[in-house]
Formats: sequence, C-alpha cells, structure tokens
Amino acid sequence: MTVETAAQAAYIVAALLFILALAGLSKHETARAGNSFGMAGMAIALVGTIALAITRHISGLGIALALGAIVIGASIGLWRARIVEMTGMPELIALLHSFVGMAAVLVGWSSFLSVEAHLDGDEAGILRFEDLLRIHSGEVTIGVFIGAVTFTGSIVAFLKLSARINSAPLMLPGKNYLNLGALVAFAMLTTWFVISPQLWILAVVTAVALLLGWHLVASIGGGDMPVVVSMLNSYSGWAAAASGFLLGNDLLIITGALVGSSGAYLSYIMCRAMNRSFISVIAGGFGIEAGPAQDKDYGEHREITAEAAADLLTSARSVIITPGYGMAVAQAQYGVAELTRKLRDRGITVRFGIHPVAGRLPGHMNVLLAEAKVPYDIVLEMDEVNDDFADTDVVLVIGANDTVNPAAMDDPTSPIAGMPVLTVWNAGQVIVFKRSMASGYAGVQNPLFFNENSAMLFGDAKDRVEDIVRAL
Ligand code: NDP
Repeated sequence: MTVETAAQAAYIVAALLFILALAGLSKHETARAGNSFGMAGMAIALVGTIALAITRHISGLGIALALGAIVIGASIGLWRARIVEMTGMPELIALLHSFVGMAAVLVGWSSFLSVEAHLDGDEAGILRFEDLLRIHSGEVTIGVFIGAVTFTGSIVAFLKLSARINSAPLMLPGKNYLNLGALVAFAMLTTWFVISPQLWILAVVTAVALLLGWHLVASIGGGDMPVVVSMLNSYSGWAAAASGFLLGNDLLIITGALVGSSGAYLSYIMCRAMNRSFISVIAGGFGIEAGPAQDKDYGEHREITAEAAADLLTSARSVIITPGYGMAVAQAQYGVAELTRKLRDRGITVRFGIHPVAGRLPGHMNVLLAEAKVPYDIVLEMDEVNDDFADTDVVLVIGANDTVNPAAMDDPTSPIAGMPVLTVWNAGQVIVFKRSMASGYAGVQNPLFFNENSAMLFGDAKDRVEDIVRAL
C-alpha cells in the first residue's frame, strides 16, 4: 500500500470519527465521548496529512516550518484552552473562527500566486487547461471571500463578546443596501476574475469581503450574538471547505462541510428559539427595526433577605430555578446543587428551566449543572416548563436577566422584542439574584424586577445561595 492510499484510508477514518463526534456532542450524556472521537479524528488527519506532505517532496525547510508552526500553534492552543474561563468560551471560539477565515484567505492568495499569476499566454490558450483554470479562479475568489467575511466578522464578534467594543448595533444608513451592494460587487468581480484573473481584482474582492464581514456583525445587537457565533461557526466551515477545494484535500472539504452544515443547522435552531428569521440572520440584517434600549420608569423594586427567601422556599410545594450568565460568573452551580438537594429532601419539587441562550454559549447552563451533579431529569428546556410557572410557588432567577425579560413579549420596540423568554412572572413569587439593578447583555431594562410578586436578593449569587443553604 502506498503512502497515498494509506493517507486516503486515514482520511476516511478521520471523517467517520468527525461524524461520530458531532453525533456525540449533541447530547450531554455522550458529549465527552464525542469530544474524544473528534480529537482522535484530528490526530489521524494530522498524521495522514504530514505523511502525504513528506511524499510530495517538500523541502526540509518546508517540513521544518510546518512542524515549527504546529508546535507554536499547539502550545498557544493548549495554554489558552487551559486558562479560559467557561464564560470566556464564546469569545475564544470567535477568535478561533477568525483564524480559519484568515487561513482560507491566505490559501486563496497563495493558490492564485502559484497558479494564475504564473501563466503565460500559451498555456492559457489550451482549451482544457482554460476550463480548469476558470474553475480554479472561481474557487480562489469564493474561498477568499468567505474567508475574509469570516475573519473580520469573527474579530468583531470577539471584540463585542469580550466587551472591548460596545455590543449595541451599528446603524449605518441604508445598511441592507450596503450588504447587498457588497454581494453584487462580489458576483461581478468574480465573473471578471474568472474571465481574466488579475491581482487587483482579487485585492478588491478581499477588501470588499473584509468590510462586509465587519459590517455584518457590527450591525447586530448584543442580544442576537449567540446566533452570530453559530453563524460564524458555519461560515468558518465553508471557508475551510473552500480551502479544501483549492488544496485538493478531500478531508478538508468533508470537515468543512460538516462544520458548515452543522453550524448552519445550529443557527437555524437558535433562530427558531429566538424567533428570528434565518434568512435575515445570514444577511446580517436582523434586529434592525428595534429601537435603542429605553430607560422607562417602572417604579420601585422590593428587596428580600436570604433568611426570608429560605422561609419562602420551605413553605413552597414547587420551585423552579432559572439560571443565567450570573450563575456562571459567580460559579454558584455547586451551591445551587446543594440547595436543590436540601429542598428535595424536604419533599419540595424542584426543577430547572433552561433558556436556549442563557449564559454565553449554547448549553452553558446544562454543562454547569451537570458539573455540579444536578440530576438531568429535573433540568428542563424552556418549552417544557413555560406552561408550569403558573402552578409554581417560588421561582429563583439566579443571575439571569434577558432570558426572563417580559419586555420581549410586551414591548414591540424593545431590541429583544419577539425573543421567547421564560415566563417566570406567572409564578407565585419570583426571587431575583443579582448584584445591582444593571441591565443584562442586551442592555435592556427588565420590568420583571419591579413586579408586585418579584423581590431582589442583591449580592454575588454564590454567596447568597450559600446564605440560603445555611438558613435552611
Ligand atoms: P444576562 O447576560 O442577560 O444577565 C446576567 C445577569 O447576571 C446580569 O444582569 C448581572 O447583573 C447578573 N450577574 C453577573 N454577575 C453576577 C454575580 N456574580 N452574581 C449575581 N448576578 C450576577 O444573562 P442571561 O443568561 O439571562 O441571558 C444571556 C444573554 O447573553 C442573552 O442576551 C443572550 O442573547 C446573550 N448571549 C448568549 C449566548 C449564548 O450562546 N448563550 C452567546 C452570546 C450572547 P448584575 O451585574 O447586576 O449582577
């Protein structure tokens, strides 16, 4: 068996492992196994690719450079993955997507420089060769375009998620026309490039795509960022697939298509969960009609102490806990698990209501609760508990804000209008754990805090939960 055949066999095994990884990652019980499949697939893919590269007579310097890049990249990756906080995951993921985008741009450019830029008139005159060249030129502009959009889009997402720039949407006049204009320009330039490949056209395509990526994500408001992250995930997959075509690497095409389509499907699920139109998300134009967050006067809020909250809980029959980003920041999940045990020991029904975008990454709350060993069967999705709040005595809103904001249902001018939320206000009593009256990630004030049946329990969520556990 030649190295070439062995590498192709390794690629098939790796592709199967990637499919198993995706299947495993779709349920929390199998997520760890899914991760292991993915790592094994990637290791096999790397070995196969390096072996292939060696057989293709790459110079010693080339191999040394590739190994150097692998060592540097792997060291930085390991270091970042070890120190990243769970709450910092989305911004790290956004940054990693930007690398995929940048890689696709570099592959496209180098492919152009090694093929089209070296042609002389005689070669271009051969019919069969000309057809192949046209396909190649089309692949170059498409790869560069998707890569550049992913690159700047992911950089803006990283800056927004890490609060380095304001998460409010950028509202340039005629923003939809700007996006549309960029797409039309791309189509025209690609046609021109395919007919007559020239350096300046590729440079303009790159510039247009970089600006489009920046604009697409900059014009999206904070509350819609989860969909943006999964959309960029999808784009990065397509960018990788485009690089696969240029490099003639089947595994990269398969992997890119898997990431691209699973990311698109995740975006679709999230759009449905957040009541957004999938098409307008891809066009980066959603959330535009919403006005800026308004500071309405909702009146006075009430406060409650941990002891009084403990009393309310002991006299309750049923309790629902709706955690959010604040539980992750405070690392309150262990205290919450302890509180849950104590209440269940007293015969009180305790369940969790998980909003699809609670926290800062899909499944964030599920992961934290699983880590603290909260039984899976009492952790329910929003749709499974939303009808039950009316029969619930006490709801504990632990560090959640946007995901329990009634303005999403009642105020059509709100930036989060239309997003389904946990209808916690229908319960007998709502206790909100947070440190201040500050708004949530979307920057929208929450009228829930001023309801008759709501009480604020101020302070770090972990400390307050532990206070209640002590009082119990
Ligand atoms: P929010 O971000 O809306 O609110 C979290 C609340 O937690 C804040 O109001 C904050 O109030 C409070 N908080 C922060 N730290 C602590 C602490 N140590 N102790 C107690 N409270 C604390 O959270 P939600 O989970 O309700 O909503 C998620 C938001 O993030 C949505 O807008 C979603 O669109 C967005 N998002 C979600 C992503 C995802 O994939 N899940 C990805 C990107 C964005 P205070 O400062 O007063 O304490």
